[in-house]
Amino acid sequence: MRMANFFFDHAIEEIPDEYEKMLEIEAVGIRGFKRDSTLVQQHAVNQKAGVVDSYQHLSPAIDTDAYMNWLYTTLASKGAQFVTERISGDLLEQENALLERFDAHAIVHATGLGGYELAGDESVYPLRGALIRVVNDGTRFPKVTEALVVAHDVAKRDDDGGIVFIVPRNDQILILGGLAQPNMPLDLTIDSPEVRRMRDRCNKFVPGLENAEYDPEAGFVQGLRPFRGENVRVERELRQKTDGSMSRIIHSYGQGGAGFTLSFGCASDILSLLEELEAGKAPSSMKKMAQHLEL
Ligand SMILES: Cc1cc2nc3c(=O)[nH]c(=O)nc-3n(C[C@H](O)[C@H](O)[C@H](O)COP(=O)(O)OP(=O)(O)OC[C@H]3O[C@@H](n4cnc5c(N)ncnc54)[C@H](O)[C@@H]3O)c2cc1C
Repeated sequence: MRMANFFFDHAIEEIPDEYEKMLEIEAVGIRGFKRDSTLVQQHAVNQKAGVVDSYQHLSPAIDTDAYMNWLYTTLASKGAQFVTERISGDLLEQENALLERFDAHAIVHATGLGGYELAGDESVYPLRGALIRVVNDGTRFPKVTEALVVAHDVAKRDDDGGIVFIVPRNDQILILGGLAQPNMPLDLTIDSPEVRRMRDRCNKFVPGLENAEYDPEAGFVQGLRPFRGENVRVERELRQKTDGSMSRIIHSYGQGGAGFTLSFGCASDILSLLEELEAGKAPSSMKKMAQHLEL
């Protein structure tokens, strides 16, 4: 667990979305929550960066390379078989064949951007992101041990959708971000103008970062966040099969820029949906469930 600090260039009350988010964080009792407009003074950051308000809370930080290896070996040790293969077209039409082929009770569909094709969901789209990775050993700049995020007023963000996102990935490596660009291909380099601007934003916030050394393993990474029009979809397939029977597909895609954060909650929801399916209950839509909860 790491402390994550969120800095603002306005009083948080003046930014409705951020204010609502902060109240929710406080209300649900996230550990380590503290609102304190003087947090910026406790960090070796530029005191003239225009920060006027801030809060912090504890947050799980994951070294995703190590985590994915751990997940893989954990599943392998439980007897999972891994098959790498592309599936084309609507999953519903191939459901019976896939269930039979793998002798399976259900299909958990979690292909991220693949939801566009496999779930016939045209609201799925990629939001390009990139990160610079630098050595965080305290030699070239004061070691950063807490996450530092400057969420500028959305109206003031540049075309890159950029924020200042500085996060220790593990004890040695610091991540610098971020970018958010819809519907763009993975063709960035460390010299692309938007990547340079991203670096500059971080350098301005943490003096000394301009001298940082790149992570020798990967100084620059980029990826496509699998977003979806409305929200994440963790839901059973609502369409019936051509023979009128209930589908045995459970969707979990569209986690966007929070797939790791949401993975535990989504997995738990999938388990509940699987139990519902095994009990022979008909599927209900996420929207209907949300309305029901609001009532
Ligand atoms: C720069 C950047 C920073 C990020 N930072 C964070 C962060 O701080 N915290 C966080 O929680 N998340 C973060 N994310 C988001 C996170 O990486 C994603 O939400 C997550 O990877 C989505 O996981 P997924 O398994 O749903 O999709 P993916 O990781 O895209 O995996 C989908 C898989 O399905 C396979 N697939 C797709 N189509 C098909 C098909 N037709 N047939 C067979 N297989 C198919 C793909 O090959 C892939 O293996 C970040 C992303 C980026 C790009």
